[in-house]
Amino acid sequence: MAGIYIHIPFCKQACHYCDFHFSTSLKKKDELVNALTKELELRKDEFKNTTVETIYFGGGTPSLLTNEELQFIIDAVYKNYKVTEQPEITLEANPDDLSKDRIIALSKSKINRLSIGIQSFFEDDLKLMNRAHNANEAIACLEEATKHFDNISLDLIYGIPGASNAQWIKNIEMALSFNVPHISSYALTVEPKTALASFIKKGVIDDVNDEQAHEQFHLLKEKLEASGFVHYELSNFGKDRYFSKNNSAYWQGKSYLGIGPSAHSFNGTQRGWNVRNNSKYIKTIEANQLPIEIETLTQTDQYNEYIMTGLRTIWGVSIKKVEKDFGLLYKDYLIEQAEVFINQQLLYIDKAHLRVTKKGQFLCDGIASELFKIN
Ligand code: SF4
Repeated sequence: MAGIYIHIPFCKQACHYCDFHFSTSLKKKDELVNALTKELELRKDEFKNTTVETIYFGGGTPSLLTNEELQFIIDAVYKNYKVTEQPEITLEANPDDLSKDRIIALSKSKINRLSIGIQSFFEDDLKLMNRAHNANEAIACLEEATKHFDNISLDLIYGIPGASNAQWIKNIEMALSFNVPHISSYALTVEPKTALASFIKKGVIDDVNDEQAHEQFHLLKEKLEASGFVHYELSNFGKDRYFSKNNSAYWQGKSYLGIGPSAHSFNGTQRGWNVRNNSKYIKTIEANQLPIEIETLTQTDQYNEYIMTGLRTIWGVSIKKVEKDFGLLYKDYLIEQAEVFINQQLLYIDKAHLRVTKKGQFLCDGIASELFKIN
């Protein structure tokens, strides 16, 4: 199984916390769409023995493309790759782009999953983050989207300065009221060089409070699990049969092609990343070149990556797999490093799999880094 990720590098405005690659000017949209289809063609041999099971439009804001532009790109995938009969095709979309007519038109296309960037149902939170939509648009779009799509994920952000736990619970309850089968939720993080970092530095916005983020993470987990969601990855909750196939492929180390500026690719042993600049990307592709840098992962890199992604999921880290793929030395190292966390009840071993406990979950990335091997 393999997936194709397509990065659409445009947004209406910059959210204060975001450090993804995007441009707020749509001037190069036509050229970019053509370049994406050309990159798909140029790279078709990379997947010549593979069937594509997922196509994911991420960004940026993919819903800024018209339905025709999205279809044009999907056609290029079908023309150049072998696609399974019922692929998961996801569109990341923002509420302000999802009018009733747009949703109906999308539901008639090959796109069969929407991932909607709600983030919060509260006006204050949305303003603080500089989201392009308001709370009413979030509600209206979910009311309409749930009539036409059954596979919907929504994103929520917790740990927002000024947002109390009571407000966070209302956000979760609001999300649950739409009966969507998947919710992704992330802690607000302060990335360097973002507007949020600068506002916090100037004292215009309070700093994020890790303790409150931690509490809100546990409130989220409790509420969603009580409503039948499986917490299958640190930031992802899904009902049975609705886990994101695209994301699960990343976490299980499967191959994916990343198309578009700043997109990452992975083929099991090599990682590639496209140039993070729209003009350079377009120019290089137009010259029939690939704007990609490739790194071959060492055995240690592969081990570290497996530990990082494995610990974040309910599947955990298979100790047998570590021994089989990396050898006894790595397995012994892993067990030795894990011991202190097992004693602190942050990790446990069950059926030869190392997993985080409930107590360790929020600290998962930090724990994983302590299990890394350094050459
Ligand atoms: S819409 Fe998404 S990608 Fe665009 S600025 Fe906001 S968070 Fe970043």
